[in-house]
Amino acid sequence: MERASMLRALAHERFDLIVIGGGASGLGVAVDAQTRGYRTLLLEQDDFAKGTSSRSTKLVHGGVRYLQQGNVALVLEALRERGLLCRNAPHLVHPLGFIVPRYRWWEGPFYGVGLKVYDVLAQSLNLAPSRVLDLAETVERIPNVQRDGLLGGVMYHDAQFDDARLAICLAQTAADHGATVLNYVRVTGLRKEDGLVRGVRAEDLETGTVYDVAANVVVNATGIFADAVRRMDEEGIEPVVAPSQGVHIVLDASFLARDTAIMVPKTDDGRVLFVIPWHDRALVGTTDVEMKSPDLEATARPDEIEFVLRNAARYMERDPRLGDILSVFAGQRPLVRMGGIQETKKISREHVVETSRTGLVSIMGGKWTTYRKMAEDTVDDAAQVGGLAERKCVTEELRLHGWMAADDPALPRTGPMRLYGADAARVERFLDEDQRRRVRLHPRLPYVVGHLVWAIRHEQARSVEDLLSRRTRSLILDARAAIEAAPRAAEVLRAELGRDAAFAGKQLDAFLEVAGGYLPPAAA
Ligand SMILES: Cc1cc2nc3c(=O)[nH]c(=O)nc-3n(C[C@H](O)[C@H](O)[C@H](O)COP(=O)(O)OP(=O)(O)OC[C@H]3O[C@@H](n4cnc5c(N)ncnc54)[C@H](O)[C@@H]3O)c2cc1C
Repeated sequence: MERASMLRALAHERFDLIVIGGGASGLGVAVDAQTRGYRTLLLEQDDFAKGTSSRSTKLVHGGVRYLQQGNVALVLEALRERGLLCRNAPHLVHPLGFIVPRYRWWEGPFYGVGLKVYDVLAQSLNLAPSRVLDLAETVERIPNVQRDGLLGGVMYHDAQFDDARLAICLAQTAADHGATVLNYVRVTGLRKEDGLVRGVRAEDLETGTVYDVAANVVVNATGIFADAVRRMDEEGIEPVVAPSQGVHIVLDASFLARDTAIMVPKTDDGRVLFVIPWHDRALVGTTDVEMKSPDLEATARPDEIEFVLRNAARYMERDPRLGDILSVFAGQRPLVRMGGIQETKKISREHVVETSRTGLVSIMGGKWTTYRKMAEDTVDDAAQVGGLAERKCVTEELRLHGWMAADDPALPRTGPMRLYGADAARVERFLDEDQRRRVRLHPRLPYVVGHLVWAIRHEQARSVEDLLSRRTRSLILDARAAIEAAPRAAEVLRAELGRDAAFAGKQLDAFLEVAGGYLPPAAA
């Protein structure tokens, strides 16, 4: 994934397919198209997964909530994709137990039966059977559960992952198969030939160089910005994307104390809320607030944080308070408004592939869990639109970059090294080559300096924010610690890219501005 050689390809090659957007949707399309043998280019205006795709609840799930809503088709598809993703990226995705605490007599049979249906829908790809737990086992598995009136729980399984790391893994997978994938290149316009979209105009935001790149077909995978690209194609077109914001707070692991998540089936506003163990922290969320316009660097509003704290406290013995929050992050769902539905929490999470009159293919909506199927549907349509030779999708069986069997003793069990999968041994050797690389980034973070150097050399990290927010997850795990580690990260970046002190200073300032939005209000 070396950026300079990727830029050379951008200048000289013609592509079969160009993807705009480097989140879950776009990266999935790039992997699918390139592995079918189409010459593929992906352009991301910021960093891979800078937007929604690094700000999810980090669940690969069928969606118990969608079952409550009666959307069986969506649940079936998502459960199937959950199974495939566990199989194709075991280093990044793993099963996780969830408990729905029971406080009323009817909740046992009610959730018990519902979750049995969930098991059945997963068929052979089910992770483990759901079951009703008694009081003692519930408390043993989630020691901080609210004990007042607790009768027991219902346990089921879904999967969890590291979203930004899966995004990098998809970029690497696409590149392994020969795709050109570039961050910090923004598409500013569409090229048309005989009235049909046949390429893009793009600017390298690091140098200002402008490129005109030709392709048979262009895919718009820009999430909450999809309408802006649709307008590049057709001015004044009716917008269809409704950004809906969700926030999470991050607490220390003692708020869960074990490796089982809590699922709250009904919050004040009728949604579900999760408390999830993640990288030795407890992650709590989320909300659903419709936004007027999309924001790449979404920030949490105080009332959203208050909502999460209040609803989590109803289910926790030791209530989380503002002062306990290590980090807050917000993301915006790219929901597609159809059929006159107004409330964002009621809009379906299904995806839509739209082909415009001029041949722009837009993939909109969906979720991380179903990124592979979304990509398959998109490339099926795009290949037709672009007149590409018909080739079958191969991603159901495609092992993603770094694949290792989940039970391989060489795969690290926990910690940051696990996320490298088959690369972990190489990364360990790399760290051993120079003892400075073994220096801890911060006492409260699980990373060392060498993880940053590796990310700059092998994972296209270009900024302090890339290093601390997405290659490592420092900013989410502990915003204050990330801020304290930032000067060191800026120096590592400066040295690796051969830049001067002014560059490091600018990088640091830019990071501190973004990081301020991750501090809880009391500490801001
Ligand atoms: C709070 C929250 C929780 C969620 N939890 C889950 C979950 O647990 N499980 C799950 O399966 N799903 C979850 N989702 C949904 C999932 O995160 C999203 O569906 C998915 O990340 C959307 O990916 P995307 O690629 O469509 O959009 P994005 O990730 O936003 O990617 C679009 C990219 O396009 C780029 N772009 C825009 N314009 C241009 C341009 N002109 N040129 C180049 N690039 C451009 C942007 O910079 C951006 O990086 C959650 C979403 C939210 C908000």
